[in-house]
Amino acid sequence: MLLKSTEKKIDLVFIGMPGSGKGTQAKILADTKNFNHVSTGDLLRKEIGKDSQLGKDVKEVIASGALVSDELVLELLKTNTDYSVFNYIYDGFPRNVTQAKAFSKYHELKPFNVIYFKLDGRKVVERLSNRRMTPDGKYIYNLISSPPKVRGKCDITGVDLIQRSDDREEVVRKRVEIFEIETSPLISFYSESKNFHEIDAELAVNSVTREILKITEMTH
Ligand code: AMP
Repeated sequence: MLLKSTEKKIDLVFIGMPGSGKGTQAKILADTKNFNHVSTGDLLRKEIGKDSQLGKDVKEVIASGALVSDELVLELLKTNTDYSVFNYIYDGFPRNVTQAKAFSKYHELKPFNVIYFKLDGRKVVERLSNRRMTPDGKYIYNLISSPPKVRGKCDITGVDLIQRSDDREEVVRKRVEIFEIETSPLISFYSESKNFHEIDAELAVNSVTREILKITEMTH
């Protein structure tokens, strides 16, 4: 949704372990508030869908649980967003301090809040191995906490649900390790700033949404 001239211009950056609920919350806020949701993981999966050489390379990296190159991700982000026109929720970006520094430079004309979804690494495997979604990633279920009404089918569209190949247990463990090594330094990088907020990602989905709204209302 385009920003009205009276609306405050501020973006949200979501940081957290895989499965900490960033995507779920970003989708809720994009549906109910004036935010566009941009997920670098989704942008990369779209590249894979194109079946180009770049797509093949990206597929291999994602399947291993490692991070795709900073240059590629930043380029994809720049070509798919226009922060002067929309308010964004950046989901899964930045993922390391190099990306955070490049983002600050690129994004220097607009303020942003950083929300850290705090979740114990042990919870991640449990959550992700039970995660199922529509092939486009739009509707997300959890077989334990939010199962579909009909087994294996999306409640909204009726399509067959899939499990992301990188949600398999051995890849999830690798993704958690990568988070601890590459992404967790971002927490101290941002934590000095007054725009940094930590949320307990173990809370129920609607409680997390309420917490984020409190932060955005406080700062918007
Ligand atoms: P996500 O959908 O955010 O869980 O991302 C899935 C995978 O895409 C990650 O495990 C990485 O391989 C890749 N990816 C997503 N965002 C980034 C990023 N900002 N930097 C590098 N790789 C990324």
